[in-house]
Amino acid sequence: MSAALKSPSAIKKRRNRGELHVVVTQKHRRAIQKLVAWGKQNARTFPWRSRRTAFRVLIAEKLLQQTAARNVLTEAYRRLVAYCPTPSQLARADVQRLQHIVEPLGFIYRAKELKRLGKVLTSEHNGRVPADLRSLLNLPGIGDYTARAVLSFAFGARIPVVDTNIARFLHRFFGLASPIPANPARSTALSKLAAEIMPPGKSSAFNFALLDLCAAVCTPSAPKCEICPLKNTCFTGRLRLSTKRNQLQRNRIERLRGELNAARSRRNRRLHS
Ligand code: SF4
Repeated sequence: MSAALKSPSAIKKRRNRGELHVVVTQKHRRAIQKLVAWGKQNARTFPWRSRRTAFRVLIAEKLLQQTAARNVLTEAYRRLVAYCPTPSQLARADVQRLQHIVEPLGFIYRAKELKRLGKVLTSEHNGRVPADLRSLLNLPGIGDYTARAVLSFAFGARIPVVDTNIARFLHRFFGLASPIPANPARSTALSKLAAEIMPPGKSSAFNFALLDLCAAVCTPSAPKCEICPLKNTCFTGRLRLSTKRNQLQRNRIERLRGELNAARSRRNRRLHS
């Protein structure tokens, strides 16, 4: 990545020509520090965040794979870790009972997958969650995103966690012209970029802050740039806010012009009456 960021309009022109290149500047890094501070103040509370063990994080990420309904998920998670607090208990679990627990999430077939996961953890990893990417990816039903999330949130590994929301954030923050890839967790370019802006020693705080920002502020269809801690640095935020300011100024000028014309008409009527 090369060439420094200039004004949003200059970058927009270059982006339209398909020439945008990004360099991570000190300004970006300071903004990311602000994001981490914002994340501490605005962290969402979930049971899998407060009592974090590798197994709990793995279970939570597994359940999170296919649902955004956090309240339904929280309940299923609570019931699941109460019934199976360890991999060996998950390996011995009754499938029907597991099905009953995950049913509200809409994927009962996952019950068998969970049990298989417990069995593999017990037989191949001494009842522990492995702490390396390759072994995690070899677990049943664990893909790139989940494996990376476990490494970051359970083991504090310095590894970026890029899902569709975070990919969208990176595109917005840096004004990337390329389309968001279908499987962002596998995008080397996005992972490298996320790793580049990750503050040293704060990888899981950074990843949590990004997830929370994307859930509450940098939302898919209507990002709330006005209240975003990154609004002064983010390419898209600056563009959106300056467009909004210009529109407000145009509206104000139009209103003043209308008032002036009305005053002129009144004066002319008075002069000719
Ligand atoms: S300024 Fe807007 S587009 Fe940029 S990160 Fe914040 S909410 Fe997203």
